[in-house]
Amino acid sequence: MKHLKTEALVIRSQSYSEADKLLTLLTLEGGKIPSIARGACKTKSKLSASVELFTRGDFLLYRGRTLATVTQGEILNSFYSLRMDLLSYAYGQYFCELIGRLLEENEPCPKEYRLFLSALEAMNGDTAYLEVLARSFELKLVKNLGYTPYLDSCLVCSTQKTPFRLSFREGGLLCSKCSMRDPGANKITPGTLSLLAKLLTADFKRLRILKMNSKQRQEIFSINQALLSYNFNLGRCKALAFLEQLGCSR
Ligand SMILES: [Zn+2]
Repeated sequence: MKHLKTEALVIRSQSYSEADKLLTLLTLEGGKIPSIARGACKTKSKLSASVELFTRGDFLLYRGRTLATVTQGEILNSFYSLRMDLLSYAYGQYFCELIGRLLEENEPCPKEYRLFLSALEAMNGDTAYLEVLARSFELKLVKNLGYTPYLDSCLVCSTQKTPFRLSFREGGLLCSKCSMRDPGANKITPGTLSLLAKLLTADFKRLRILKMNSKQRQEIFSINQALLSYNFNLGRCKALAFLEQLGCSR
């Protein structure tokens, strides 16, 4: 199908020449699609506003061999306020980078689309909440892609007796008796374990009341980064380095 009419979110928008913009669209119908918006850098272009980062719109695409050409775009939500707040913008960029690096091109991914949209809708300028949202987004994205760690009990003997270690290789918790199955498994405290379960399952908006102390923040950050690296061989994210410069995340 050469023409595709679909709702999409702009997850990358970069000037390509004086006139054109290169985009990555996360489409509801066709997954992640690299695209070009010809003339979008010109202020008079009808496309210029609809291809800004984070914009949700209805798009008409003409699919070429490598790039799709955006022929029409109608804004449904510009998420303008996220672009105007530095911290929200930085976290939003991080979400875009994760989506950009973890999802395959041209593979429909409506669950990931809805996850990303609900994260954008939940974002506000609250620093502590943005961090909670980011940790929850990482876990839910990994879960959607089929790599959920099993957090209910020991994977091997089903005991719920703490302490546990978290094994990425085995895909979940190991009790002290079974932990020899993976000597590299990370220690995890019961408080952090309970937070991980909430971050994985609760709606983004319900997480507004979730509190993490600095040790838990550090532990969950490290666990999530290790989970992403182990399953996706994900190197350092540029957007995460930018968040560090802003004094967020570690
Ligand atoms: Zn066990």
